[in-house]
Amino acid sequence: MNKALRKAVIAGNWKMNNTPAQTKALIEELAPLVADADCGVVVCVPFIDLHAALEATKGTNIKVGAENCHWAASGAFTGEVSAPMLKEIGVEYVVIGHSERRQYFGETDETVKARTRAALDNGLLPIVCVGEVLEQREAGITEQVVTSQTTKALEGVTAEELKKIIIAYEPVWAIGTGKTATDEQANEVCAIIRSLVEELYSKADADALTIQYGGSMNDANADGLLAQSDVDGGLIGGASLVASKFAAIVKAASK
Ligand code: PEP
Repeated sequence: MNKALRKAVIAGNWKMNNTPAQTKALIEELAPLVADADCGVVVCVPFIDLHAALEATKGTNIKVGAENCHWAASGAFTGEVSAPMLKEIGVEYVVIGHSERRQYFGETDETVKARTRAALDNGLLPIVCVGEVLEQREAGITEQVVTSQTTKALEGVTAEELKKIIIAYEPVWAIGTGKTATDEQANEVCAIIRSLVEELYSKADADALTIQYGGSMNDANADGLLAQSDVDGGLIGGASLVASKFAAIVKAASK
């Protein structure tokens, strides 16, 4: 597989952190540090921070993403935000199916598929998260789990639409735990996802697909992870909240 065929994307997932004022301040600190990045730079922020993020990123190379979107365009879904709403204010990316949503908010493969469809239909770029929990890794079924999650999320996605999708491989046991997958573990599963995409679509489509690793990636381990042949960037939680650490990861991806 030819890594040069695709551009790395480093996306921060801020989770439920930062007020609008803190968002403005963090982006203003980050922007000059990543201005010469040779990779995509995205910050995915809480809904309430989107306006502040869009304003603060104007004239920079930082793109803005949401952390979720609903599958319906509108309707009786109290507390939810739809893809057309995000699109209208200028959001470009949206994280779909993060493990915390699967774990705490009843997200299933079926709803991940529906939200991915809504994102694509409304011109948003979905970052679709897949990954096994510790018991599944220990039971030796990581490949099965990730294959099934990815296949379901991509159901009905055309080859043309696939070009707009990023898959983030995030082993759940490595998220927010400080326990990173080894370079080899991360690469092995990203390669499994790429082979699956080759089977479902074509070699050219698989070669072009950006597959991120996520799970305690930081300024100290990014070099090794991002040098792997099938790892095309990262989805970063904790380290994305510190401008210097996030910028160091962006630098590692720009090599
Ligand atoms: C994440 O939230 O997607 C994530 C990978 O978090 P962390 O980097 O903190 O493990």
